[in-house]
Amino acid sequence: MDCLFCAIINGEIPSAKVWDDDMCYAFKDINPQAPVHCLVVPKEHIASADGITADNSKYVAHIFEVIPSIAKAAGAENGYRIISNVGEDGCQSVKHLHFHILGGAKLSENMG
Ligand code: AMP
Ligand code: ZN
Repeated sequence: MDCLFCAIINGEIPSAKVWDDDMCYAFKDINPQAPVHCLVVPKEHIASADGITADNSKYVAHIFEVIPSIAKAAGAENGYRIISNVGEDGCQSVKHLHFHILGGAKLSENMG
C-alpha cells in the first residue's frame, strides 16, 4: 500500500518528530497553518475517522490520552484546536487518519 504517513511512521520519508510511542507518532506539518501545527497519526493504517471500528479504536483513545502531552511538547502553551478532515467534503488530502493540532496563537473563530 502506498501511504505517505505510513512511510513517515516507518522512517522512509523524513519528518520533524514531536512525539513517538508504541501506538502513535506526531510530527510537524510541512505547511503550517498556525505557529504550532503538528499531525498525530496512529501507527496502524486507518484511512480516516470513517474507518474507526471497535477493533482499532484503542489507537484513537490512546491518541486522545496523549494529545495534552503532544500539544505541550509542540509548544501550544495556551490551548489548541484538534481537527480531523474526512473525505472529499472534509478536504482530506492524505488517506491515513490524522489529527491536526493547531495553536501557538489565538486561532480564528471561523471553523468552516
Ligand atoms: P489533510 O488535508 O487533513 O489530509 O492534511 C494533510 C496534511 O499533511 C496537510 O496539512 C499537509 O501540509 C501535511 N503534509 C503533507 N505532506 C507532509 C509531509 N511530508 N510532512 C509533513 N506534513 C505533510
Ligand atoms: Zn497509512
